[in-house]
Amino acid sequence: MQLKTINAYLITSVCVILLDACGPSVPKPDPDLPTDTKIQLAAYPTFSADSAFQYVAKQVAFGPRVPNTPEHARCAAFLRNELARFCDTVIVQTAPDTTYDGTRITMKNIIGVFNPQAKNRILLCAHWDTRPFADQDPNRPRERFDGANDGGSGVGVLLEMSRIMHSRKPGIGIDIVFFDAEDWGDASGKVDHSYCLGSQYWSKNPHVPGYKAMYGILLDMVGGKDALFGLEMNSVSSARELVMQLWGIAGQLGYGKHFVYAERGPITDDHVYVIHNLQIPMVDIIQYDPENRHQFADYWHTHNDNLESVAPATLKAVGETLAAHIYTEDARWKTP
Ligand SMILES: [Zn+2]
Repeated sequence: MQLKTINAYLITSVCVILLDACGPSVPKPDPDLPTDTKIQLAAYPTFSADSAFQYVAKQVAFGPRVPNTPEHARCAAFLRNELARFCDTVIVQTAPDTTYDGTRITMKNIIGVFNPQAKNRILLCAHWDTRPFADQDPNRPRERFDGANDGGSGVGVLLEMSRIMHSRKPGIGIDIVFFDAEDWGDASGKVDHSYCLGSQYWSKNPHVPGYKAMYGILLDMVGGKDALFGLEMNSVSSARELVMQLWGIAGQLGYGKHFVYAERGPITDDHVYVIHNLQIPMVDIIQYDPENRHQFADYWHTHNDNLESVAPATLKAVGETLAAHIYTEDARWKTP
């Protein structure tokens, strides 16, 4: 992600952060609120943390999922097949693209659709590619890394979500989009729009012409041990109510230690292109570590982004929050 401040360009990978930007303020919920003001949650199927973790391990086992490599091709086939087991329709969107360093790649967005005819739709996204270099690592910075958390974790949670949605199918439409080529970007900040190539393409060429969704939820780096998820300002600007709903559900389920009410600067991640090009409000659930200069985990874009950095408990916190939200939304749309 690519991080920027007003005073200095910080070197990182996919995100642009205005650290001193003033975004809309998000109040903390009052912990003493009477229980009847809490969100009434519908029943939802069990989200298996073990299954989600195995999905992360499976991706890591292919090797780094860098575009143009056999590992990337093999993982693409796996993701397509796995979505095909659970979804009504699967689409692989393939397009030529060029990264900031002039590498020609074949980009593949992999899309699973539940209830293609449903009018009320929710978009769920993660990126599935791996950055081609561990450039934040002083050791072997030009070599590839596992990307267990960065890439693998969001896909792992959404594959498990698709498994449980197949077991108890919601009535609303769900579109799961795995974006490619999110992370092959220019860390110097000199090249605009160098990250998020898959979402840039899809948001201009959605798999359904005139695609509409009520809103979208992006998962990025959602498996780190003891991870915090803060209030990302592009999400708050675009979908404030949804942010409050998701963070509220997480708190009710006992995951308030992960979903914290700490504001962080806006990040340019895949959601930004969907918000801008398709006018779909969207939330990014993305790891937040205030201790680090780049505000991500200290193993971000290093060789330590491996399976040991991923905790089933964090995958569960995110997955269960998402499941509770989806089935509660589904019940709401069924009840006039
Ligand atoms: Zn990354």
